[in-house]
Amino acid sequence: MNNLRPALGIFGGTFDPVHYGHTQSVIVAAQQAGVQSVAMLPCHIPVHKNHTPSASQHRLAMLKLAIEQYPQLYIDEREIHSDTPSYTIHTLRALRKEYPKHPLCFFIGMDSLHSLLSWNEWQALFDYCHFVVCCRPGTKTPLSEELKALLAERQVTTNNALHNALHGKIFLADTPELDISSSEIRRHIINNLPTDDMLDPKVRRYIQTHKLYQPSTTF
Ligand code: ATP
Repeated sequence: MNNLRPALGIFGGTFDPVHYGHTQSVIVAAQQAGVQSVAMLPCHIPVHKNHTPSASQHRLAMLKLAIEQYPQLYIDEREIHSDTPSYTIHTLRALRKEYPKHPLCFFIGMDSLHSLLSWNEWQALFDYCHFVVCCRPGTKTPLSEELKALLAERQVTTNNALHNALHGKIFLADTPELDISSSEIRRHIINNLPTDDMLDPKVRRYIQTHKLYQPSTTF
């Protein structure tokens, strides 16, 4: 027995728009990781993107619609209401102060694992959280030597390890490969192509009502 509290999940993203690759992946991964509750954390100004995201209020509204039927998901609005770029390390420091005894599990897609070593203060992230990695198609490129070494040091194959330590582990979840991305959805909308298999119908209706991702929009 340890004296740790239940693990908390965090899933950061631009969610422009939120899609099934986000919600379905995180739900399955959370189940495999044994994490009961996951905070969806929309960023305000993403650090890793080269497009200007849609207004915060739209991304937030779509996220609310997409998760309302999933009691295990909720929204943490701290980054989206901040005026500074969203650095995960800053948010994790704040969360750790609020939750000193809860293991923190940060959920990412496989593409984000591949780019993790370019994140601000990436080594320090492991002093605050575990990473739970969802499968994502198109990221079958071989792991770099540095990433292989990181996995050799930190990967765990059972979820117990995520609950017996506050931070520091990597758990590769076996989630369905969903070939969906927000940028592809934005392209489909601009070209009048269907997005049925990619998006919650409520999110699709919201996009239509508010005329998001129209040709004048840069992405
Ligand atoms: P864009 O196409 O604009 O780059 P995106 O679809 O990658 O956006 P983000 O909001 O940037 O969506 O992603 C947030 C997190 O969700 C990242 O960790 C990313 O790896 C993960 N993610 C996004 N799409 C998928 C997917 N289809 N399967 C698994 N993980 C995903």
